[in-house]
Amino acid sequence: MIGIWIVLLAMVIMAIVFRPKESPFKLTDRVLIITAHPDDECMFFGPTILHLKMRNIPVKIICLSSGNYDGLGQTRKKEFVKAIEAYGAEGECVAEFDDGPERWNRDDVSEFVKTQVAYYKASVLVTFDSYGVSGHVNHQSCSEIKKIDKVRVLYLESVYLLRKFSATCDLVLTSTSGLQYVVAGSWPSVKAMFCHRSQLVWYRLLYIAMSRYMTINSYRTRA
Ligand SMILES: [Zn+2]
Repeated sequence: MIGIWIVLLAMVIMAIVFRPKESPFKLTDRVLIITAHPDDECMFFGPTILHLKMRNIPVKIICLSSGNYDGLGQTRKKEFVKAIEAYGAEGECVAEFDDGPERWNRDDVSEFVKTQVAYYKASVLVTFDSYGVSGHVNHQSCSEIKKIDKVRVLYLESVYLLRKFSATCDLVLTSTSGLQYVVAGSWPSVKAMFCHRSQLVWYRLLYIAMSRYMTINSYRTRA
């Protein structure tokens, strides 16, 4: 028991010591986070959502598919709504594209996102980079969104496996990478993860405990 408290204390100290000097976001920004599947928002983008909420920067999460590959699309859409509520954020699972191994049509994704950007008056887009963190082709399709005038795009950095599962310890490498990054507590994201009941297999629990994406998001400016 004492060991667990020591690890938690070490993580908190590390988060304080290696916290970023400045935010990648301006207070005047309006941020649209583009994800591929319900649960991407809390598996990968939780720190970004929390960082923006803490600063009262408007943020909306748009999930492009219902995650219907196993026929659970309707359930997963409802779980997405609960997870977004857990964050106290704004979000929509639009289910415009099919969950699966096919790469999405770049023109279709770009056109759809462009419409959403105009509707939300977004100044910043946050989405996956070209590897897509887990290597899922739908994540990679999000990275291919074409440039939109006057909209800054931040691509969530994919890191190699050892870094991915080194929790807050990855701050040592993240803080020296030269990339912009945010750090946030993981508890709201843990609660949001538990809203995705249909996806809660044993290794998700391991992911919650070990993934640096529960507390750290770093961004590339090119996919
Ligand atoms: Zn996904």
